Amino acid sequence: MSCIFCQIAEGIIPATVLFKDDKVIAFRDIHPQAPVHIVIIPVKHFTNLNDIRGDDFALISYIFSVATDLARSEGIAESGYRIAVNSGKEGGQVVQHLHFHLLGGRQLSGELG
Ligand code: IMP
Repeated sequence: MSCIFCQIAEGIIPATVLFKDDKVIAFRDIHPQAPVHIVIIPVKHFTNLNDIRGDDFALISYIFSVATDLARSEGIAESGYRIAVNSGKEGGQVVQHLHFHLLGGRQLSGELG
């Protein structure tokens, strides 16, 4: 298994895990870009958004519910936060396992690209 996020999901690579169930795992980013920077992934391996079809969109909806719960528990829900997905090379994706960034705790730039 070479995917680092699969290895985090399996507990092979250590991470600061904030949430885990059979579908989703959320952990602190190793190189945080903001005071709160959490990576939220489906346990099942999808390379990026191009792999999401049909029923899998229910999982994406669930990931957003996990993300908004984490925003509340991290204390950034009211001040504001960003949920971002980098999908594919020109989208800036580095780790080839679909993931969502939850960022907050400072004023984020208006720049999206
Ligand atoms: P991407 O650019 O959207 O693919 O973001 C990948 C993110 O994963 C980056 O913010 C990295 O800092 C983060 N990351 C890479 N390896 C690890 C790790 O082992 N633990 C936690 N976060 C990681």
